[in-house]
Amino acid sequence: MKQKDEMELLSLTELEENRLLNREKARRWRERNKDKVKEKSRAYTEANREKLRQKAREYYQANKEELKAKQRARSEDGKRRAYNQEYYRKNREKLREYSRDYHRDGNGFEQRLLREFEITKAQRDQLLKEQGGGCAICDRKDGEGFNRLNVDHCRQTGKVRGLLCGTCNRGIGSLRDDPVLLRKALEYLKSSL
Ligand SMILES: [Zn+2]
Repeated sequence: MKQKDEMELLSLTELEENRLLNREKARRWRERNKDKVKEKSRAYTEANREKLRQKAREYYQANKEELKAKQRARSEDGKRRAYNQEYYRKNREKLREYSRDYHRDGNGFEQRLLREFEITKAQRDQLLKEQGGGCAICDRKDGEGFNRLNVDHCRQTGKVRGLLCGTCNRGIGSLRDDPVLLRKALEYLKSSL
């Protein structure tokens, strides 16, 4: 850190250099004299109480609407958070059960297959068998819950292409599912081998 500061100083004009050095000196002094700084600040507030109050009033008047809006937003946020926490507390078991259903091989999963990809669990099983039980690209095996292979479908036709692990699915997605880009990426990789 210190080295970096020094390097930066070299490229500055002498004036700027001095300014930065003084600022750093002042910072160190304040750090060593925290009590003195605190006492001074307290004394200043005391001596200028009326002036500071007046300034605060003026600031409030000048920015009233903005400040009120901020306060309202904070209060709304707080209320919403409190409501959500209370809802979760009251319904903890029910919500956990929903979550378990959603992630396990049960009705939730089969319904999701049908709703999102219009295939049955049997069709998925068949697909998995045809792929040798693993991801169509890297062969990672199908697992449970979050480790389950994704159903990959063509965004244009909606047709199911196959089952992919999350990493491979995101990988082709990053290249916009575009065969031209994927081929170019392949050529690019090969060029340095
Ligand atoms: Zn994969």
